[in-house]
Amino acid sequence: MNFLNRPKKQETKLKCPSCGVEFIPISYDLISEDEPSHNDLAYQLKSDKLPGFNMRIYPFTFISKYWITFCPECGYILRYVAEIGKKQLLEKVEGRTPRGNINEFSKHYQFEFIEYDPPCKDLFDYYKEKFELLIEHITTSLEKVYISDWSTLYKEWEANKIDSFKFLIRFMSTLDHYIKSVSKEDLKENKMPEKIKSLPLSHEIKDNLIKVNNLRNRIVHEGYEISNEDELLTLDTFRTLMYEIIEQRLKALNLKEEKLPENFNLIEQRQFYYFIQGVIQNKIGKLFNFKDMSIQFSIPLVKRLGIYADYREFKNYE
Ligand SMILES: [Zn+2]
Repeated sequence: MNFLNRPKKQETKLKCPSCGVEFIPISYDLISEDEPSHNDLAYQLKSDKLPGFNMRIYPFTFISKYWITFCPECGYILRYVAEIGKKQLLEKVEGRTPRGNINEFSKHYQFEFIEYDPPCKDLFDYYKEKFELLIEHITTSLEKVYISDWSTLYKEWEANKIDSFKFLIRFMSTLDHYIKSVSKEDLKENKMPEKIKSLPLSHEIKDNLIKVNNLRNRIVHEGYEISNEDELLTLDTFRTLMYEIIEQRLKALNLKEEKLPENFNLIEQRQFYYFIQGVIQNKIGKLFNFKDMSIQFSIPLVKRLGIYADYREFKNYE
């Protein structure tokens, strides 16, 4: 027997029984009654002695926890069951009845506890969902450009696991892989410079990528030794490429237009931007550790995405 057929948190509003306003609860409080101990049960539950008999009967259920929230219009308090203790018969095990909490008409019972969600989502749920969805969008969007492959390559070079020569070779093979994934045309037969030219990137980065590819060919085919200058060009090109790729991906998400759940000004839009900015900085910071990462990379990026928020604006919240 199911006592409460309350559906799992629906996207609905509550109706205040006092003033009639429909509202989304700001939050719920979970109020808990201490779970009665073995001996307390008979006392705590409203057990009744039947007249003329020396025996007690116990209620079928009792409320052990409940959700409360209030009407933001009039302050009326609404309560909903969060946990019910339900009287259950103890089954005989190997012919013997186990000792139960309750002995009623020579049968043994115990209370089983069943939990219930609040009747509908509160604002905290809506905010949390929004934040989680955004994090997921940002993550999957970056995964589509093999961001972890690029990151692994960079980290291996940074940790001296591979030298600049190997870095350069793998840079070009990862680029080739990337081009294949983003290109609509079949470029398999094309030479690398043509493939690079087909990319939707700035001319500057395309020119540099072609230069790095030439370097690669000279090293592989002519035994050319990589110079410090070549190394700088390679790293700089890598960093700029990451910037352009990440910017393109995130721009497509149109983060500037992201809005918080409507009608409630619990968080300002600029604080919301500050949150998104934090997610991006955190994500990228874990992938790459370029020089002056924040000033040169993350902050210009969030500024160009139109979601820059200066933490100094929020001083009054500290
Ligand atoms: Zn009300």
